[in-house]
Amino acid sequence: MSRYKSNLTLDDIYPSRTDHLCRRCEKPLTGKQTKWCSKDCSYAAFEEMMFAKGSSTHIRREVFARDNGICANCGIDCEKIQRISDHANQSLSEFETVFNPYDLSSNKNHSLEIRQQIIHMFFEYRKQFFKDARKIWKDTPLNFGGSCWQADHILEVIHGGKHEMSNLQTLCNLCHKQKTAKMARPKKINQATLF
Ligand SMILES: [Zn+2]
Ligand SMILES: [Zn+2]
Repeated sequence: MSRYKSNLTLDDIYPSRTDHLCRRCEKPLTGKQTKWCSKDCSYAAFEEMMFAKGSSTHIRREVFARDNGICANCGIDCEKIQRISDHANQSLSEFETVFNPYDLSSNKNHSLEIRQQIIHMFFEYRKQFFKDARKIWKDTPLNFGGSCWQADHILEVIHGGKHEMSNLQTLCNLCHKQKTAKMARPKKINQATLF
């Protein structure tokens, strides 16, 4: 049993036909069209094939379109958290670009005292920044940086779960971690009893 239908082609999902109708929506084809009636149908068919193949990008796109980033387990709005996270990361890096303490403190036009103050200010700001960031993340210990959510197969692919919307849910990283930890436990016991 193969886990992924990686060899799937467009012909498997929308077989060729001789009646000169769009393979996807069955509207009559015109002119030089041979498979699809429009760019929309061609694009949608490609997306559907990638989804069936198990492409994580395409699965994520569909799951996000349906769930809007709301975790199915705890109800956290992962999109909102993502925005805060992205914004926080961006503002820190922007701050560090315009306010580089090493450039400023080495500028000989400033007195030593001012240079020391600049460095102090910079590190105080950083401290405060991470304190604020930690406050935001306290109740949601999700990844800082990468994506905050996973398109999760309710029944894992390895156990026969399909790449179908009914078998997919949004899980925040924390709930996903908990789920995979729960699943990993019996596996460990099985492995231990093997020896
Ligand atoms: Zn069409
Ligand atoms: Zn959650």
